[in-house]
Amino acid sequence: MSKSRTEGVIGLAASAFDILKRHSIPPYPQFFELIFDYEAGRNPELKSAMEAVFKADSGLAANDVRSLLDGHIQPKELASSSLPERMRDKMDAMQDAVDAAMTSASSFSGSLDNARENLERGISVPEMKALTIRLLDETRHTQAANRALEEKIASSREDLVQLQRDLALVRREAMLDPLTRIANRKCFEETLGNFINEARGSVAPLALLMIDIDHFKRFNDQFGHQTGDQVLRLVATTLKSTIRDSDLAARYGGEEFVVVLPETELDGAMFLAEKIRRSVYDKKLLRKSTNEIIGRVTASIGVGIYRAGETADQFVDRVDGYLYEAKRHGRNCVVGNSTFPKAARET
Ligand code: GH3
Ligand code: MG
Ligand code: MG
Repeated sequence: MSKSRTEGVIGLAASAFDILKRHSIPPYPQFFELIFDYEAGRNPELKSAMEAVFKADSGLAANDVRSLLDGHIQPKELASSSLPERMRDKMDAMQDAVDAAMTSASSFSGSLDNARENLERGISVPEMKALTIRLLDETRHTQAANRALEEKIASSREDLVQLQRDLALVRREAMLDPLTRIANRKCFEETLGNFINEARGSVAPLALLMIDIDHFKRFNDQFGHQTGDQVLRLVATTLKSTIRDSDLAARYGGEEFVVVLPETELDGAMFLAEKIRRSVYDKKLLRKSTNEIIGRVTASIGVGIYRAGETADQFVDRVDGYLYEAKRHGRNCVVGNSTFPKAARET
């Protein structure tokens, strides 16, 4: 940490301590952290909440600090937004330890040079004694600095492993649709791009299904958005349980879903699409309070095989066209590569 930055932080810490002292609040670490954050001005919401408390006649009390803490300081393990900050703090701590060890090593090396020169020049026995004592002292000092560095590295290693785990969790969450817990559009686009790149270099076919729930708006309008959300989760679960591990099912947006099937021919993809259509149709949507059946969910599906030279967007647009044809054919059916609908509506 640079000298000016260290001085800045010391200044903030002193002001935070002053505030706590002025209001007779014990400087427990979490109280101190809150006031320190306020002083540092890192959290605008905390700043205005704190200023409102200061304006109140009663002044700042320990109870105010406790409720500010609940509202403004997140548990560190869960605060994904603080990951880069935590990473930087760990790097800073590590850098400080390395700096200290290097300073000590360099001063030790200077002392050794100096001792060598003296020995070469020739020194008296008392001088030799004094030199030996000084070198022993410096050796101990350097050993202590190295031990401190080793300890810091060991503890930093554990922190870094935890940070890596948190980062992996955040990455996974960033690829998931929060409502249905299947992959989101971002994940679909990345995966489709990768599959297309692989398909370009091979003869293996790549299939894409675009699935749109029929008259979905009616579920929302008749039974409310919560029921609408339940329908979305039901379709997502059906997709997940129908595909292979190597396939990808994702929510494309709203009530539209996509399934990517690597190494799958049109026949296989049509077969799977029909299986999905049928499974969705077979599910009964029940009203939780009364257990009455409130309707059947149906979906229309477009199926396409990747054509050499197409971009991902062109491929998606083409399959979207088949989905549109399925809608035009009365919904609850599958249309692939300009074929006629394979499934009848009522079955
Ligand atoms: P079609 O058969 O032609 O596809 O008709 P549709 O009613 O399914 O399609 P439309 O595009 O008219 O309506 C889609 C609706 O989906 C409108 C929008 O409010 C609703 N919707 C989008 N996202 C969500 C969501 O996350 N939850 C709920 N409950 N509804 C959503
Ligand atoms: Mg739609
Ligand atoms: Mg729809």
